[in-house]
Amino acid sequence: MTKALISIDYTYDFVADDGKLTAGKPAQAIEEAIAAITQKAYGDGDYIFFAIDGHDEGDEFHPETKLFPPHNIKGTSGRDLYGKLADVYEKIKDNSRVFWMDKRHYSAFSGTDLDIRLRERRVTTVVLTGVLTDICVLHTAIDAYNLGYDIEIPAAAVASLTKENHQFALGHFQNVLGAKVIE
Ligand code: ZN
Repeated sequence: MTKALISIDYTYDFVADDGKLTAGKPAQAIEEAIAAITQKAYGDGDYIFFAIDGHDEGDEFHPETKLFPPHNIKGTSGRDLYGKLADVYEKIKDNSRVFWMDKRHYSAFSGTDLDIRLRERRVTTVVLTGVLTDICVLHTAIDAYNLGYDIEIPAAAVASLTKENHQFALGHFQNVLGAKVIE
């Protein structure tokens, strides 16, 4: 079984107190876990894909413009990885098993070549980490399900704005998408 860890949107804008679209404290609470799980996956020889929201300033055609304040604008520090995950990324980024992908939509698969790269490497299992559990992680999980991947979610390495939304998504991963939620 070949695995890839998909690291979703754990950036300054989504995590820091003064981030532009922050989940705040619940997102900050997973800092240690997401860094440790990423480091461990790397040590285990897994592929690591950082799939990170990248928006153009003032993009009137983007559907999120109507829904959210501007966030993760290309060329801004809001797109920098937050906290200890940034340190892990700095250490591993030059390895050929580590990828950075700009994404445009919630799902890491939408408009990216993630699926092609996973298939080239015979990846069968994706491990999803990051924020928000019920938005970008959930949409990525749904696409992974439709594309036939096995899905694992380490519960300690995903977070959302509210406990209710987080719990809903964890239940959906497990009961509807057949994912293995690892407590
Ligand atoms: Zn966005």
